[in-house]
Amino acid sequence: MRACNWLIAALLLPTMALAMPKEARIPGGVALIPLTGIDSEQAPEVRYGKNRVMVVPGDSSGWVAVVGIPLDAKADETQQLTLDQGGYSFRIDDKQYESQHLTVKNKRYVEPDPEDVKRWRRESAEMAAAFTHWSAPPQPTTGFTLPAKGPFSSPFGLRRFFNEQPRKPHSGLDIAAPEGAPISAPAPGTVVAVGNYFFNGNTVIVDHGYGLTTMYCHMSHIDVALGDKLDLGDPIGKVGATGRVTGPHLHWSVSLNNVRVDPLLFVDGQ
Ligand SMILES: [Zn+2]
Repeated sequence: MRACNWLIAALLLPTMALAMPKEARIPGGVALIPLTGIDSEQAPEVRYGKNRVMVVPGDSSGWVAVVGIPLDAKADETQQLTLDQGGYSFRIDDKQYESQHLTVKNKRYVEPDPEDVKRWRRESAEMAAAFTHWSAPPQPTTGFTLPAKGPFSSPFGLRRFFNEQPRKPHSGLDIAAPEGAPISAPAPGTVVAVGNYFFNGNTVIVDHGYGLTTMYCHMSHIDVALGDKLDLGDPIGKVGATGRVTGPHLHWSVSLNNVRVDPLLFVDGQ
């Protein structure tokens, strides 16, 4: 029976690896760029700006670059992938995300003190290091399950105003759930950052390999430690209301080549 299960798993594995994210060549989206003309056994090293890009085997043959496009990318600028020799260019479409106006009671979250700003800079550097962490596990992750159960209370990409002041756009998906609701790993990975951050509250960042990372914010409790290896479904923490929030929820970010993209592009059926 065991051998039989193993056989089924082995047969399923190649199909799972090819479950690609949905393509959306827009700011905050993902581009799937076939690297035509490259027939090397090894995946080529591809960069987009400063960051290394995920490259996975194509459906039939060759390699495909899976590229995260930043929210501030401009439709009238050609996007460029660079390789050791040559490169690939692609264009993106414009996307107007909706606006959202939020009221935060604690004014320090809208106009932070100089001390808060210092703290936030330090924390940003720590998070940037986690987002740019490069690892090469045997099996690339290209899809996720949802890390928590609940309605989506704020979609990705919203242009945000806190107490009527413009701030950075919403770089993740908010899932509303009561305080204490479980948060679980949406794919295998390694914990590369754990912290209590000024804006993000209790936060965990998980590296899934090849420049794909996920971040979990505002938790009431953290269940993991730095360096922990997670399987699909392993507990990460509990939903909470720490940091800059208007109520308990999970803020879930998906980062690809150090660019925050729409998490739902990676979730089947969404
Ligand atoms: Zn959020």
